[in-house]
Amino acid sequence: MRHQGTVKGVESADVIVIGGGVIGLAIARSLALRGIKRIVLIERATLGAEASHAAAGMLAPQAEADGVDAFFELACASRDLYPAFADELREETGTDIELERTGTLYLAFTKKDEEEIEHRYNWQQRAGLFVERLSVDEARRLEPCISEEVRGALRFPLDVQVENRRLVAALSISVEQHGVRLLTETHVKSIIIEGGSIEGVETSRGTVHAPVVVVATGAWTSLLASSGNASLPVHVEPVRGQMLCFETKSRLMRHVIYSPRGYIVPRLDGRLLAGSTTEHVGFHKCVTGAGIHEITAHALEIAPAVSSLPLVDSWAGLRPCTEDEWPVIGACAETRGLFYATGHYRNGILLAPLTGELVAEQITTGRPAPLANVFSPERFQCVGVN
Ligand SMILES: Cc1cc2nc3c(=O)[nH]c(=O)nc-3n(C[C@H](O)[C@H](O)[C@H](O)COP(=O)(O)OP(=O)(O)OC[C@H]3O[C@@H](n4cnc5c(N)ncnc54)[C@H](O)[C@@H]3O)c2cc1C
Repeated sequence: MRHQGTVKGVESADVIVIGGGVIGLAIARSLALRGIKRIVLIERATLGAEASHAAAGMLAPQAEADGVDAFFELACASRDLYPAFADELREETGTDIELERTGTLYLAFTKKDEEEIEHRYNWQQRAGLFVERLSVDEARRLEPCISEEVRGALRFPLDVQVENRRLVAALSISVEQHGVRLLTETHVKSIIIEGGSIEGVETSRGTVHAPVVVVATGAWTSLLASSGNASLPVHVEPVRGQMLCFETKSRLMRHVIYSPRGYIVPRLDGRLLAGSTTEHVGFHKCVTGAGIHEITAHALEIAPAVSSLPLVDSWAGLRPCTEDEWPVIGACAETRGLFYATGHYRNGILLAPLTGELVAEQITTGRPAPLANVFSPERFQCVGVN
């Protein structure tokens, strides 16, 4: 393949991270903290402007889980890193990522919902997890705004939330302070692989050479072609999620509140985020009338008072979803130097600190951490292209 000239001032690197969402940023930071010197992060547009900007910021592995599996363990382990992660980012950057620890309520409105929360309560109790079953009166004492129709509730004190846009901002400052070279508005067109090894990447501004490339391109991962113009072996599909933002003068609620159909996330500044949709519509990132209708209906089911709040903003984002809906984290065995960190679907904010650590550990030690084994790209028969 004919390569373009090199990118002015950045001809080579020790590690290239493609994608400047929370996942790419967290990996770049973890690598820098482990002493890797020449890290280049390449972002097509601006840092954190895609799914990482659109998210609700819930760190809630327990609220939605139906049992203990490797994903649940990964998610809880990442959630447990957040207090220290938030403190470190505040110290490094002066930015408070607003880790809000009031907890999460999960409400039941129908008989089926009641069965669902009963099941969730029982298995989590048996597993020794921190979960509280609340009567309707107890739930209403905690959150007086909830609907009269509530039939039962669980509270997950450890499932918390973070302001994901502040997280992106803090990570961006942090990586820059740690010397990571940021190439924004630079599109990676292909990954250069020769003789089964990574050689670098071809970008819209020229070639950057490196022995290690981390693919953290979220929903766009399957669009990234190798130098042979073949698709990369990991398939990631965009799944659209729409969000609405209401404004409150005084705080309507303090917990993140879920039902089986939707959720409301109260931000410290008075905004109430309501979500979301799950739509397989390709890369069409827009808010639709049907989306607004669906999300509003689910928010009103939780808290009827939302009906009188001004709707001040709305947006959509593309969640990166793999075939088995689990993230892909780790090295591609067939191509030396190629690593994946993608497919974080509904939980990329939650999983960012641990993903950063796992990828950085494998790159610097040459061995995957035991926790990462099941998430390896090998489960999709990762075949290198050369
Ligand atoms: C509505 C909604 C609500 C959500 N709520 C939550 C939540 O409450 N909690 C939670 O944990 N998660 C949530 N998520 C999921 C979370 O947002 C994602 O899992 C996470 O942001 C994925 O991060 P990422 O860095 O992989 O992807 P992104 O943030 O999408 O970043 C990928 C980046 O790669 C860049 N890129 C792509 N291709 C190229 C290329 N060829 N060259 C250069 N750059 C490229 C893109 O421009 C983009 O900036 C939500 C998502 C949505 C849409």
